[in-house]
Amino acid sequence: MAKRQALIEKLWLIGAILVDLADDILDETFEILKVGAEWLVDLAGSLVTVVDWILDHISWGITYFGLLFLRRVHNTRMSLIKYRRQIQNGAFYFIVSGLAIAFLFSHYINYAYSYNGRTMGIVREQKDVLEVLDLASEELTQEYGLKVAIDGDSDITFKPVLSFKKEIDKPDNVLKKFTYMGDIQTKAYGFYVNGIRIGTVQSEEIGNSVVQTIINRYIKGNAGDYDYVGINEKVRISEVDVPLTQINSKDALLKIIDQGAINEYRTTDENGNETVVKEEVPILTVKTVGEETFTETIKYETKTVESDSYYEGDEFVQTAGSDGKRAVTARVTRVNGEIVTREDLRNEVIIQPVTKVIIKGTKERPPTVGSGTFILPVNGGVDTSSFGWRWGRMHEGIDIGASTGTPIMASDGGTVITAGWNGGYGLCVDIDHGGGYMTRYGHCSSIYVSVGEQVFQGQTIAAVGSTGWSTGPHCHFEIRIDGVAYNPLDFL
Ligand SMILES: [Zn+2]
Repeated sequence: MAKRQALIEKLWLIGAILVDLADDILDETFEILKVGAEWLVDLAGSLVTVVDWILDHISWGITYFGLLFLRRVHNTRMSLIKYRRQIQNGAFYFIVSGLAIAFLFSHYINYAYSYNGRTMGIVREQKDVLEVLDLASEELTQEYGLKVAIDGDSDITFKPVLSFKKEIDKPDNVLKKFTYMGDIQTKAYGFYVNGIRIGTVQSEEIGNSVVQTIINRYIKGNAGDYDYVGINEKVRISEVDVPLTQINSKDALLKIIDQGAINEYRTTDENGNETVVKEEVPILTVKTVGEETFTETIKYETKTVESDSYYEGDEFVQTAGSDGKRAVTARVTRVNGEIVTREDLRNEVIIQPVTKVIIKGTKERPPTVGSGTFILPVNGGVDTSSFGWRWGRMHEGIDIGASTGTPIMASDGGTVITAGWNGGYGLCVDIDHGGGYMTRYGHCSSIYVSVGEQVFQGQTIAAVGSTGWSTGPHCHFEIRIDGVAYNPLDFL
């Protein structure tokens, strides 16, 4: 506790010294700052009051529960009251000294400016340099015939410096310095690609970092994981003497490289006409060789299985096919990111494809013409006495009782002539068997055939139901010859 107090007091003392120092500079002209500081001190004072209030209430609550904790809180509060004055003073010194330091810094911070690494002078503000750059570039271009464009972003760097008595360049000094700069020959490094100098940089390191920057564009993850990483062209960085203005910044050199080169060549067509072909080619190409993993789709296969369980012409999908997936690890050679060669090393199936299976029926279709013999259309209970006069009217067929959904088969081969609603018969199917013979199936719950369809004896055509005038699920079955109904039991 005592140690901390001593430290705080020391800090306040330093603050006070700074305030004294700042006072000399601030003088009376900074009355505004003082007013601001006083306001902050008032704020700090009210904060202490709020803390007092909170502590009062906390200690009341704690007293009530008779906890030992009370004493510590109370002591803290007492010392807060005791040191309140000191805290207030401390806040004042702290704030005022902070303002003074900020003022000092803003007043004495200047900027050393450099052109591509060469320090040229000190200015009060960065704009003193930036605003004359265009003019300087123009004058240099006129005077030396050099195509000079000084770029504020990439050619000029600023470094904040504290300076009191050092010489500060005014904008016209800056302009003069830039204009004379064209004369200065300096040692630099030419950046050669296949023997052609494409730029000049300040140091070998900058040249190497340009190469590295270009390589890094095509490296994914760790460069050490590749079998080979390199530049296809021959790059050489060697010392040259050039005018200062010819030095490129790293960004400027990268820009030159990124613009690419125009490759010109002549071709002769079959008629002997010569044409000049111009194509844009990259100045540097990065080659990488390394293992990569690709996820690929495995297309499913389709298999057709013949089955004599189904009739000829019947075809259906038994198993739907689905694509699989595999991970292929390959050694891949890329040039500027584009795959040039790929040698697959191994692959692992992640998801097995599912073969599509089509079942194709081979069983010979039974004839769809009447045979002259009839079968019972439903496996169910035949009401043998149902044909004939009943309740004062003619019942023209027999009723076969079966539960709803039981298949109804064609009694003989033939052509469907009715398939749908037919008054009291409900959902009804009529089949023409030729030779005047016709069968009828009434009260169906659903119908599986349509008008015009050829059916064979025993083919499922409908399902038992209770549609139309019906009191329960059954099939009403009729056999007619030239429209006249006969007792079907006589034909079965
Ligand atoms: Zn009936």
